Amino acid sequence: MTMPTLSVVIPIYNEEAGLPALFARIYPALDALGETYEIIYVNDGSRDRSAALLREQFARRPDVTRALLLAANAGQHMAIMAGFEYCRGEIIVTLDADLQNPPEEIGKLIAKMKEGHDYVGSIRKKRQDSLFRTWASKAMNQLREKITRIRITDQGNMLRAYSRGVVDAINSCKEVATFIPALAYTFARNPAEVVVEHEERVAGDSKYSLYSLIRLNFDLMTGFSLVPLQWFSMLGMLVALGSGTLFVLLIVRRLIFGPEAEGLFTLFALMFFLIGLALFGIGLLGEYIGRIYQQVRLRPRYLIEAVLENDVSVQANVSEANVKVAVAADQRQKKE
Ligand code: UDP
Ligand code: MG
Repeated sequence: MTMPTLSVVIPIYNEEAGLPALFARIYPALDALGETYEIIYVNDGSRDRSAALLREQFARRPDVTRALLLAANAGQHMAIMAGFEYCRGEIIVTLDADLQNPPEEIGKLIAKMKEGHDYVGSIRKKRQDSLFRTWASKAMNQLREKITRIRITDQGNMLRAYSRGVVDAINSCKEVATFIPALAYTFARNPAEVVVEHEERVAGDSKYSLYSLIRLNFDLMTGFSLVPLQWFSMLGMLVALGSGTLFVLLIVRRLIFGPEAEGLFTLFALMFFLIGLALFGIGLLGEYIGRIYQQVRLRPRYLIEAVLENDVSVQANVSEANVKVAVAADQRQKKE
């Protein structure tokens, strides 16, 4: 297998119900592009039959199929990172396995990349998700616009294309909790966006619970901005200024009206508000510190249990010695 032009990286977590439909659509869509390609499925520690289905599919199209089977669930973005380390294409496209991003739209991204962009994001024309998801995602999008320097119109959409240079830069990061579209954006010199279709999930349910969505958004906000911390110190200063003023006011009232004991409940309300604020601040600090802690432990970000691929000689990260052995074998074959 020569180096493909296009690598498509697809993270998969418990998607057995939808995989047959994905296989049925993605190969014709990519064959139609007329580019050399490889599809890298990353099984993110699925507990259903996804891995078995991937093995079957690998046997059907070993020429363009590669699969990484992770030993445990590492999360969508880490699964993509694993795929990035293995992919060999010049243009790398990420796609969800649930067919919410139609594979037929990949051509649009490639065409835009060929205009000279090194990052092509996509904007969903009409989002097919629940009202709550759509609304919450819009709110998070706006917050991210405010507190980071990342300018992405539709951050939740994973159908995106990256150049080899951008993916190499991402591979050099050893981040343990990250948000790939944002990370890629920080390395892109000439980003662009295209509008794409969006469909309902073909089968199964979203793999994100409300909790994991909140965690993911924390990864995005804390991973790309210190503004939440800075806002907090500003808020702290304002509160200090406010209570200073209140103190002066109380002294003046004491001098004019004498001792007063009213307003006990106002005081309670104020206290609870400030305690709440302080707890929120401590929690926010904890989010950053927790991430520092995870990062400094330097544990492996994901464990690869098996790699299904046809031609190991050109595997992205084999050692030089292996490559030499492979080249020698290759030459022997040619002579024969
Ligand atoms: N996914 C994954 N690991 C996870 C969660 C999700 O690899 O821990 C994959 C999932 O199989 C799918 C993609 O990430 O291919 C997006 O997930 P999903 O469609 O559930 O997210 P949503 O569309 O609800 O944002
Ligand atoms: Mg989805």
